[in-house]
Amino acid sequence: MTTPRCPACQSTANQRKAGKNRSGSQRYLCKACGENYTPAPYPNGYPEPIRKKVILMCLDGQTFRSVARKMGVNHQTVANWVNDYVLRSARAIYKKPKG
Ligand SMILES: [Zn+2]
Repeated sequence: MTTPRCPACQSTANQRKAGKNRSGSQRYLCKACGENYTPAPYPNGYPEPIRKKVILMCLDGQTFRSVARKMGVNHQTVANWVNDYVLRSARAIYKKPKG
């Protein structure tokens, strides 16, 4: 877990845990400016570089399960990422210009 950054003053120093919100996310209090906030979660629960590396490893011929084990990601999550990547690529290839 990395240190959260205050969205108000961009400080990473003096960030204190301040209970949890209703959905169970950790809340923080910035001692520098007094801002109370919940760090923005990653859209897929993982940082983009991890997602990219996982997809590359799968494209390299490794199985979802072996990649999942190496990267510490759920294998269903790995499958979802790869499916999503394949779909996007297919759309980009087959998208025909209008007219
Ligand atoms: Zn602050």
